Amino acid sequence: MTSLEQPAATIAAPQLPADGATGFHLLAKPSGSTCNIDCTYCFFLSKESLYPNDNSRMSEATLEAYIRQLLESHRSPTVTVAWQGGEPTLMRLQFFERAVELVEQYKRPGQTVEHTFQTNGILLDDAWCEFFKKHNFLIGLSVDGPREIHDAYRVDRRAQGTFDRVMNGWRLLRSHGVEFNILCTVNAANEHHGRTVYKFFRDELGAKWVQFIPIVERASEATLEIANQGWSDRPGRKRLLYTQSGNLVTERSVGGEQYGKFLVEVFEEWVRHDIANMYVQLFDVTLEAFFGRHLLCIHAPTCGDGPTLEYNGDLYSCDHFVEPGFLLGNIHETHMATMVASPTQRKFGNDKRDTLTAQCQGCKVRHLCNGGCPKDRFSVSRDGEAGHNYLCAGLELFFMHTGPTFTKMAQLLQQNRAPAELMASLAADDARRDPYQPCPCGSGKKFRFCHGPKAPASPFSGVNAVPVPATKSETVSTPIELRSSADRD
Ligand code: SF4
Ligand code: SF4
Repeated sequence: MTSLEQPAATIAAPQLPADGATGFHLLAKPSGSTCNIDCTYCFFLSKESLYPNDNSRMSEATLEAYIRQLLESHRSPTVTVAWQGGEPTLMRLQFFERAVELVEQYKRPGQTVEHTFQTNGILLDDAWCEFFKKHNFLIGLSVDGPREIHDAYRVDRRAQGTFDRVMNGWRLLRSHGVEFNILCTVNAANEHHGRTVYKFFRDELGAKWVQFIPIVERASEATLEIANQGWSDRPGRKRLLYTQSGNLVTERSVGGEQYGKFLVEVFEEWVRHDIANMYVQLFDVTLEAFFGRHLLCIHAPTCGDGPTLEYNGDLYSCDHFVEPGFLLGNIHETHMATMVASPTQRKFGNDKRDTLTAQCQGCKVRHLCNGGCPKDRFSVSRDGEAGHNYLCAGLELFFMHTGPTFTKMAQLLQQNRAPAELMASLAADDARRDPYQPCPCGSGKKFRFCHGPKAPASPFSGVNAVPVPATKSETVSTPIELRSSADRD
């Protein structure tokens, strides 16, 4: 037990302000940033160096303080207990059995608790899956696409691809009937394969819920070379602590505009076949924004309700800002509700709105985009203002492209009709469309051979196939040559 880990009951619950937020979404990292694999783009791995001499495992005292304070802090009827990493399966199953017991002990009458768990899937076995099923856990499984794409960056410590081991975890989740989401990063290896990646999740993995996360790894001229080598700790190699600084990006990062093209490719497939059948987080979030509801911090006007808890009780402003300047305190010294409501954290969240560039303030899709995440604001705007979002070209493309369709969906909802009705009218439009005209997704390809009836099959191997050597035309995109963030696309 460290000096901070006093008995859990010593911190009294604060009086929550009546007009304050009713809840927040905390990500807990019970094994810190420690992971059993070594994804090249994962800068979270470097956060181990914040706690160099610890074994990075959450103690029983911290677990109890966390669960108790989390349940005390919420006035909303539903509370999410969210486990994240690093890799949370590095904690033994007994740890999470105890967490569930503590939830039952501290849950207030009328409170409903949802459990979520983000994993790379490699250590899953029958016992884990039986536990998840029994307690209704929602599992986030990290997969970047078919084997050739997934294995580009999601590798182990011997630089071997992890696809087969992840698919083993996926099979176990399916066979036990555990609910799962796919978390897919968009990076230099899959940025040109949006539709293929999406179809792989839908058709081969049977996923119903997908979330895309852009990989944007910042670096400066001084750190770029080391950053391009990855963030893990290897003998004989200098290691950096990743911080949100620098206005260059690594060669693994997604291109700003290409991120939008990827999303549009997925959207054009989804809108034709999958409305109401597949939930793509950003699509859901965008439709909700038409009704003034902002479900995702990244595209909300303000943020600050998504703190992160390290294994020792340290609370940070956000999972993307686990660095000394954003440490709010420790739950063994200050109640988490006090830290979340603190002026420091409120300022962190309000700065998202208060530091928008003039381009963002005058942007036609600001009500949908809200300038994106502050961590990505290291580029320059069209009029040369610093602090603009690196992904802007892609975000603008996506929101402009999809806006008319989401407007129609919103109108259908207002008439108490289902947005899925749109698929029939799109099918009729497509039937009238000249198949040799450019595809509406903007790819430049003919409709017939893009999102039309003769769309090409995936050039990548399927989930059960053994790896096949790619032909030259099928090769996964090689990492892009690095340019400054201003001219990245
Ligand atoms: S910094 Fe970005 S990820 Fe973190 S809470 Fe704000 S918008 Fe969300
Ligand atoms: S699309 Fe670009 S300019 Fe518009 S709000 Fe988003 S980041 Fe700002």
